[in-house]
Amino acid sequence: MAPIILKPRYISGAEFHRFCVAKDLNASCLRCGEGRWELHDTARQLGMVGQHNGIDGVAADTQTPLLTLSCSNCGTLWTLVRGGVQQWLDENPEAAADE
Ligand SMILES: [Zn+2]
Repeated sequence: MAPIILKPRYISGAEFHRFCVAKDLNASCLRCGEGRWELHDTARQLGMVGQHNGIDGVAADTQTPLLTLSCSNCGTLWTLVRGGVQQWLDENPEAAADE
């Protein structure tokens, strides 16, 4: 998924779960097989950023916002391009509950 640059916004655990179900992602940790993740989005910070390197190999001033989680069991990092997840969520709002 190519970097999609959007103004980052908070993504909740419920939103990320909905994304994973829709995309049929395997949410088991690649290293330990557990499936408990800590989403890094909080009221004070939004995941991490990927620092780009310039053609000379020196860090450029461009970054890709990332959605990051860590495995609650072994600490393995799960990193996604935030813009792609955020764009999908915005284009696929949660359906209103049937009554
Ligand atoms: Zn793990």
